[in-house]
Parts: sequence; structure tokens; C-alpha cells
Amino acid sequence: MAHGYHFFMNPGPTNIPERILRAMDRGTIDFNGAQFKAIAEECFAGLQRVFKTTQPILAYAATGHGAWEAALVNLFSPGDKLLVIESGFFSLNWGMRGQAFGLEVETLPNDWRRAADPAKLETRLREDRDHRIKAVLAVHNETSTGVAHPVAELRRAIDAARHPALFLVDTISSLASFDFRMDEWGVDVVVAGGQKGLMLPTGMAFTAISAKALAATAAATLPRVYWDWRRLLGEASQAYWNGTAPVHFFYGLQEALRMLEEEGLDNVFARHHRLAEATRRAVRAWRQNDGPEIFATDPGSESDTITAVLVPEGYDADKVRQLALDKFNVSLGGGLDRLRGRVFRIGHLGDLNEPMVLGTIAAVEMALELAGVPHGRGAVQTAMEYLTDAS
Ligand code: PLP
Repeated sequence: MAHGYHFFMNPGPTNIPERILRAMDRGTIDFNGAQFKAIAEECFAGLQRVFKTTQPILAYAATGHGAWEAALVNLFSPGDKLLVIESGFFSLNWGMRGQAFGLEVETLPNDWRRAADPAKLETRLREDRDHRIKAVLAVHNETSTGVAHPVAELRRAIDAARHPALFLVDTISSLASFDFRMDEWGVDVVVAGGQKGLMLPTGMAFTAISAKALAATAAATLPRVYWDWRRLLGEASQAYWNGTAPVHFFYGLQEALRMLEEEGLDNVFARHHRLAEATRRAVRAWRQNDGPEIFATDPGSESDTITAVLVPEGYDADKVRQLALDKFNVSLGGGLDRLRGRVFRIGHLGDLNEPMVLGTIAAVEMALELAGVPHGRGAVQTAMEYLTDAS
């Protein structure tokens, strides 16, 4: 029997703040009426500030997978070639969806523990002299590994190769948690979801679309009805819904955007960095005695939203995760794909504060002990000292 507060520390979905829950706890309104129009307009304007773009954004009643698919079917034709920058489970999964639509998907190989190398991208694009590659796909924050990838530098690599490929970026676990700039970084399509940095219940996803990407929709021949950007888009933002607009998601989104603006995006990013750094220091304390280590190996590429913790060879990360849940009511993320059983993932994004992170670190240390995984001690003290100094 679980008691007390459930510590939900998965890297998404994230904790839904009371303010958002209360904002959604209202009766419905006519989605064709002026009241909804005003809420939607406020939301799209707020989203543009979060995406750092002046270009149109579309919202769907869907998970991130829907927004992934929307990007593919609106931009490409069967046989078109995509270059997916390998970063982990999510990058490969996006590419597989392209294959399912008859696209030719090439993977730019990359060690999952390291940030993508812009020089490798530039070299590959230079080799593509007849410009067969129609788009480069990247995941800003690879949620399966806890590695953040250098989007601005990857853009510079595309430019340096003088390659016309579209640049598509998945920001599902970075947006509204650490810095992302659609326009300044020259991203053509941004894929995002509501259930992470935006702190919403799962079921709302977004694409932001550059003028170059919009122009590409005209030549694309993959079948699309539900996702068709040309139908959904009005002058500057969404003008059409496939059926009923998800009014309650907009109530929640309006409140989420107000909360982010009250805190200030830079302060949101600083908070995420502080809590992430405390988590990293805790893992480094466990690393003593040949204990677990941070999966990300490149200094500076560790994600500020999720830390994947690699357990020593011969130990089961899932056992640690299960013990944390069963004994201490702390929910962590498990390892995905080839990392199953090798890592557990601590999510530190969304509506989170210091005691939540410290409580989690304490529970994980107890779970490591119970699972018999060798580890150093004192991670909570280490994190406390850092958080005290950094506050
Ligand atoms: N991309 C990334 C980076 C993710 O972290 C996730 C989900 O965790 C997805 C895509 C898929 O999003 P969804 O689960 O909303 O379909």
C-alpha cells in the first residue's frame, strides 16, 4: 500500500501543477465562440515566445508521435531520403516511422553516450552532391539517454555544407525546460509535446513550421488528411480543427504559459539546470566504490531534464527502479531499447523543486542499497551542499 505523496520522477509525463489542474476544472465552452478564440490566440502567442519563433504553430489532440507523423506526411513523398542523426531510441523511432511511409531513411551513426558531431553531419552532407537528402532529423534532448544535442551547431553544419535539406528537430523533452530558439537556430520544423516542460496532461502536441517547410508541403505527395497543415493553418495560426477543438487542453495550456511567463523562461531554465546539476552530483557520489555512473559522457552535453544512470555490469537497473517504486513510492523511468535493464532514468523537469529532487536521491540511494548495487554514499548531502550554494 503506497502512502504519502507519490514522487513522480519520470522524464515525462511530468507533475501537473495544482494551478493547471484547477484551470482545467471548468465547464466546456463553444469552440467556435469568441471566448475560446481569445484563449487560443493567447496560447499561440505564448507558444511562439516559448519556441522563440514568429512562425506559425499548430496544435493537435495527439501525443508526440502524432506530431512526428504530421511532420513526415506534410513534407515528403515516397522514396524521399531522410538523414536521421542517431541519438538513441527516440531518434531511431522517428526514422522508423519515416520508413513505414516508404521514405528512405539513412542513419548518421552516433555513440548514444555522446552528443552528435556537427563535423560528421557536414561531411555527410557534402558527400550528397546531388542533394538527395531532403531533410535532417535531430532530437534536441534524447530522453532515452540524457544527452542534449547541439542544435545550433548542427544547423551551422548544414549551412557550411551548403545543403538545402530541411532541418527537423524534436524538442519533446527540452522545450520550456532548457534553451531552444527556433528562428535564431534556423530550424524548419519543431516537434513538441505538452506533457513535459509544458506540464500538461498527455494528449496535446505541436509543430512549428518555417516558411521553407510550408513551401515544401506543396510538392509532398504522402497521403494526409488529419495532419494536413494546409487545411489546419489560417493566416498566422490554427484556423481549423479536425472536429472538436480540445478546449480543456487550452485551459491548461493557457495557465501553463502564464506560469512560465511569471517565472520567466530564463529562470525556468536556471531552475532546471540547478536541479539537474544536483542530480548529477548525487550520481557522481554513487560512482565511488565502482557504483553507477551518468550515462552521458561528454562534459556539457548532459541533459538538464533527465539523467540516465548506468548501473555497473552484472546488476539490474530495473530492480533498482522497482524497489524505489514499491518501497518508497518514487517512480523513475526505465531503460529503453538496448538500455533496458542497464539504466534507470531520473526525470528532473517540469513542476519540480529542491525537496522533490532530494527526496528522490534519498530513495534511489536506499533502493541501490536494497538491490545490492555497489555505490558510494552521501549523495543527498552532496546535492544539499550544491543546492544551498546555488540558491
Ligand atoms: N520524442 C522524445 C524525445 C520523447 O521523449 C518522447 C516521449 O517521451 C517522444 C518523442 C514521444 O512522445 P509521445 O510519448 O508523446 O508520443
